Amino acid sequence: MMQFTLQACFTLSCDVTSLTRDIDRFVTTTNETILRKGPEKLAVIEQHSLEKETLRLSITSTGTLRPHNALLQIKNAFSKEFGKTHRVGVRSITIETYTISFDLQRKPLKDVSIPFADVKMQETQATMVLSDVSEEFLRRNYIDRMINRVREKVENQYYEGKAEFWKLIWESEERKPVWAKDPTEEMEKQGWLKQGPTKGKWFYYPQATAILKAMERIAIKEVLQPLGFQEVIESHVKPFDVWLKTGHMEGMPYEFYYVCEPRTRDAKDWEHFIDLTKITKEVDVGELQKNLSPPAAGLCYAQCPMIYWSFKGKTIAEASLPVLVYDKTAISSRYESGGRHGIERVDEFHRIEPVYIGTREQLLKLREQMLERYKHVFNDVFELDWRMAWVTPWYMQQAGKICDEGTQDTGTIDFEAYMPYRGSRKDSEWLEFQNLSILGDKYITAFNIKAQKSDLWSGCSGIGLQRWTTAFLAQKGLDPKHWPDAFQKYLEKLPEGIEFL
Ligand code: ATP
Ligand code: ZN
Ligand code: MG
Repeated sequence: MMQFTLQACFTLSCDVTSLTRDIDRFVTTTNETILRKGPEKLAVIEQHSLEKETLRLSITSTGTLRPHNALLQIKNAFSKEFGKTHRVGVRSITIETYTISFDLQRKPLKDVSIPFADVKMQETQATMVLSDVSEEFLRRNYIDRMINRVREKVENQYYEGKAEFWKLIWESEERKPVWAKDPTEEMEKQGWLKQGPTKGKWFYYPQATAILKAMERIAIKEVLQPLGFQEVIESHVKPFDVWLKTGHMEGMPYEFYYVCEPRTRDAKDWEHFIDLTKITKEVDVGELQKNLSPPAAGLCYAQCPMIYWSFKGKTIAEASLPVLVYDKTAISSRYESGGRHGIERVDEFHRIEPVYIGTREQLLKLREQMLERYKHVFNDVFELDWRMAWVTPWYMQQAGKICDEGTQDTGTIDFEAYMPYRGSRKDSEWLEFQNLSILGDKYITAFNIKAQKSDLWSGCSGIGLQRWTTAFLAQKGLDPKHWPDAFQKYLEKLPEGIEFL
């Protein structure tokens, strides 16, 4: 059940006291025409009153036609009728109060608040009271999103703290690790890595670099090239409108690194800042901020949003389907805060992200082929102890849902490796070192991507080079002697590196 009550007032272009009877008639007719469909009342003007140039209306509805939409229609009808006959128009609309009550699926566990309204809860009913709302606000369809957001927040209360959905798909044989040390710590000791200079970033000396680069070659030679993926290079800087379309902007705004442009490129405007810097040899951040524009973009979080953007509004030829592309240039930045650990959870990492667009059948077949290639890498090249599981796609986690019910046509598979330094194989937490998703038409629709004939789906797979590296080294150690032959083909010899005294 939904109940809407709207108190609004039209400010008219002149005093219409003399038209009182015409306006009474207009209200009656409006209730019988615009606000009615056959026997059904879509919305009702319950009361109206006139005072000079102010017409007050009280409109109710149970949802079919939202009073704020009715109001805009009433305004048009009014202008049409009184504009022609009496040269009276509606100057502006003000909403005095707007009360919306609606049912919730479940009783809220605690109060919920949202912007633009006071929210009160009683049992399984929510009531939003809005005041001082502009016409623009009504036009923009905020009301329905506000209702959805309240419902979503209540549903989220039931999922907070619950274990995430996780369902094992496949598991490798158990393999005996050559050691049980934390590879990052050991690499630091040996001078292969240095932490910093800022949070969650690392400097990779030649040895660590050689391993990461070997991982990249393996992914390309063993997985992407055999399946026909083509490389693309995308921008590292993602404007907010791309993230608005993918949902990242509402999904993880707290994990982005934001990008500011200089407010001007004119050296004169920077003179004071330059003087200060020369004299104090420090950065006066307050002064700097005066010369910066507010952020309108962020650093790459994942590569797929920009790849979808590149297909925005385009029609793909059937001959190009499935589209198979990957980016390995953009570096992912994520503010991981308390979760940082070693090079396996960092704020800056190197990922290869294959993206695929094609028909449902093409993508389901491709998933099988990719899984086969990935299995080959992890079983035969790395000889890893690992497993695969269905998990909740990220955009569903944000919406408080635990899993995609029903078929596994769409969804996300996580690839996890046993990390001996964390404890026993059975009880310790395994490391997600990559994933693979098919996301249906979510992004296809968001970016209005079309084919000549086919209905399109899309998906992506995140190959984290730091994660591949730590998973491998955590099981195989730093001594190349213990590395599998197939891996040694990609990295015959570690570089000598630099000796520090
Ligand atoms: P997690 O749950 O570990 O935070 P995620 O779900 O945020 O991972 P995705 O957005 O699915 O990760 O990214 C896909 C891949 O990117 C991961 O499988 C991993 O290889 C890599 N990755 C993600 N976050 C990091 C990080 N902070 N450091 C290193 N690699 C990462
Ligand atoms: Zn992606
Ligand atoms: Mg994460």
